[in-house]
Amino acid sequence: MATFIVLLGPPGVGKGTQAKILSERTGLAHISSGDLFRENLKNQTELGKLAQTYMTKGELVPDDVTIAMIRDRLIRPDCKAGAILDGFPRTPAQAEALESMLQEFNGQVDTVPVIIVADDELVERLSNRWTCRASGHVFNSKSNPPKVAGKCDFDRSELYQRDDDKAETVKHRIQVYMDQSLPLISYYRDRGKLLEINGMQSIEAVNQTLMEALKK
Ligand code: AMP
Repeated sequence: MATFIVLLGPPGVGKGTQAKILSERTGLAHISSGDLFRENLKNQTELGKLAQTYMTKGELVPDDVTIAMIRDRLIRPDCKAGAILDGFPRTPAQAEALESMLQEFNGQVDTVPVIIVADDELVERLSNRWTCRASGHVFNSKSNPPKVAGKCDFDRSELYQRDDDKAETVKHRIQVYMDQSLPLISYYRDRGKLLEINGMQSIEAVNQTLMEALKK
């Protein structure tokens, strides 16, 4: 049966960074709903234009649109063995939709690590975050700077600051997480799938903690 890992945690906690490393180390596909929306936005697809109106305000894109996009991604061959889901599900309705989609694909959500950091750390991390244009690698100008300023270490593409990483939008995104995504913690805890991971450590230490927790 295919293995799906759902990474939970507020914006800025390091889900994208950890998901990329986990994907390299486990061979499972990495699915980031935010990256998929940004790719659609870059290509000016209808989906991208629709998502933009929500993304710039730090609001969630409606469930039906998001679920349809993830379904299209899950049917791709690289998800046969499973995937690491980063940024999806973000609402209980998305979690339920995921469960029924995975049943169809003979998979299930195995484990749900939630990465935990202090609240004031989130704003700090997001406002210093730099993202690569080519494939969404992320750097932090203070705690994890790129080797060459403004360039991605992995693919040399340009680093930029996301519009929704501006201070006012960041605070709203954290509030949206509290209101709409926090119920997922009890949803997965009730199903015996939740793992709490201390995110106040170096990137490598968080990843080691995650890898050890996933082995169990
Ligand atoms: P992220 O890169 O995960 O921070 O996502 C950036 C933005 O994309 C969010 O603020 C939402 O507008 C949108 N988004 C990403 N994932 C979802 C989701 N699962 N449900 C609804 N909107 C999402």
